[in-house]
Amino acid sequence: MVIPADALPTLLASMLGPARTTRRANILDDVFAEVSDQFWAFLAPNLWWLILLLLVLVILAFPILGRGPNSTKRDPWRGFRFAAKETVMLRAGGRCEAPRFFVWGRCSTVAAEVDHVIPWSKGGPTVISNGQALCASHNRLKSAIFPPWWYVHGLERRRNRYAPKGSKVRVRAVLNDEERASRERWSTNRRK
Ligand SMILES: [Zn+2]
Repeated sequence: MVIPADALPTLLASMLGPARTTRRANILDDVFAEVSDQFWAFLAPNLWWLILLLLVLVILAFPILGRGPNSTKRDPWRGFRFAAKETVMLRAGGRCEAPRFFVWGRCSTVAAEVDHVIPWSKGGPTVISNGQALCASHNRLKSAIFPPWWYVHGLERRRNRYAPKGSKVRVRAVLNDEERASRERWSTNRRK
């Protein structure tokens, strides 16, 4: 069908004309009003429960405070090796340190990896105080999740039971002076 050019403005006007637009807008308004009425009718009696649920979820996901890291900058040393790896493994007695269920129990599998408690990708440094021994499947499960406060507390509580006397069980995602100094020594030696 060929539309004559001089008929186009009239045609467009009839398509977008005021009468049509208003009718469509009215229908949309009605639908919107209906949906929002139903939404509030459902929400209003349940609002307190939903706020409470949200609050609980926020509290459960909250990270532990005051343990670092001090920045999100990634540690140039990524993996646990040599003495650091050995110390974490010894502290764990070679067994996975993950809980069996939330904060209860302890995984009974042999540890395969030393992993960062506060993830390396989130600024957690590769230091003994930020290391945990994990089995292969717990290591895969954990990935790069920033652990909530209760995970860290649970880990420390379990460690108090199995870690050899004198070993440091507290999780800290910060380099101590000794570690900083030993890294400096290492890099100066390498440059020589
Ligand atoms: Zn495990």
